[in-house]
Amino acid sequence: MDMTDTFAYRGGHLACEACRAEDIARAVGTPCYVYSRAAIEANARALADAFAPAKPLLCYSIKANGNLAILKLLKDLGLGFDIVSGGELDRALRVGADPAKVVFAGVGKTRAEVRQALQAGILMFNVESEPELAAIQAVAAGLGTQARVALRLNPDIDPKTHRHITTGKRETKFGIDFESARALVARMPQWPAVRLVGYHAHIGSQVTDPRPHAASLAKLIAFAGECVPPGGAIEYVNIGGGFGIDYVPGQAPPPSAFAELLLPLLAQAARPFRLLMEPGRFIVGNAGVLLTRVAYVKRNSDGRRFVILDAAMNDLLRPALYDAHHRIWPAASDSPFESDGLAPADVVGPVCESGDTFAKERPLPEVAEGDLVAIFGAGAYGFAMSSNYNARPRPCEVLVDGSHHRVVRRRESFDDLVRLETL
Ligand SMILES: *Cc1c(COP(=O)(O)O)cnc(C)c1O
Repeated sequence: MDMTDTFAYRGGHLACEACRAEDIARAVGTPCYVYSRAAIEANARALADAFAPAKPLLCYSIKANGNLAILKLLKDLGLGFDIVSGGELDRALRVGADPAKVVFAGVGKTRAEVRQALQAGILMFNVESEPELAAIQAVAAGLGTQARVALRLNPDIDPKTHRHITTGKRETKFGIDFESARALVARMPQWPAVRLVGYHAHIGSQVTDPRPHAASLAKLIAFAGECVPPGGAIEYVNIGGGFGIDYVPGQAPPPSAFAELLLPLLAQAARPFRLLMEPGRFIVGNAGVLLTRVAYVKRNSDGRRFVILDAAMNDLLRPALYDAHHRIWPAASDSPFESDGLAPADVVGPVCESGDTFAKERPLPEVAEGDLVAIFGAGAYGFAMSSNYNARPRPCEVLVDGSHHRVVRRRESFDDLVRLETL
């Protein structure tokens, strides 16, 4: 889905579905995250439709955006969840998720988390090392149960994305290389409280070329065909998430481009595998914006223009963390995104860090104090990565549904910030 479908300028004003951004900002204050229900649902459907022939189980990756209202929408659409912590399992269960659709990833699962997940009855753990297998064995045996696991393989594939979000190269901390995995599988009977049922790989995030995903799936399928645990069977292949989105138009291909390369690989596999997918960013990234007001406009003697916003890196970390590009534009505009001939501005937040910069030398229309500005593509890894740095209360989150909007997480107060502290 193109971000302009649900976040569009009509009559010179930015709207999310049928709500004007300015009306929402006036009602709830700024900065605030605004999400479109229609966009979230359309994205989930687009991915499900593209891969429909393989009947995949889509496990939404909660870490992209864990707001309960969003999890509930996705659960109601039939999605499962990909979790990376006990806290995320708790969130999933709070919205009534079916534990049989929950998969658990991460290199450092604690025994407490393993126990919590086994007691909940999740579908499987994506196991990242031999010591983790041993820990799951111990906990499962203690509970008198058997744990289903997939081995997370490291396919040593470069997804051609930012190095901080590359996870499927040999030198990253993720997954198990193929030789080690082969040896582990032969020794599976050593861990009788663990049943190996699948193979998993997640090569990175914001992947805009379908070929690395196809190469990864091809390796998974070949491995699954050849490497079957003694007395067992492999039912699942899990290709992880990472499907890229348009932070600027035309950056990412539609899900059908991924499906076109991946589906034939599954169809040609010697035996049928159930396909699991773990989309995060793709579902929510372009379904959210961060609304913020201009606090000041400052001009240096060398002509540099700084647009200082009331949002900061603590609210949206991605530009500071990995130079991420987000479209930024005033909410009132007769010529949205027409940047030809505009003077550049550094768009910054108020936090005491040079890294608190949303964009450098970005062509931007003239803006004035109090103007509302939208930072686009902020639905994924936006609020989820927010913090209270500089003792800044985190923004509220708003979910739009047609002409209605409601606050799905209220703005934090100063009391919230000190609630857990003692003198
Ligand atoms: C982060 C993560 C995902 C989701 O990645 P996106 O790029 O948001 O789709 C899926 N699987 C695993 C194991 C992850 O760590």
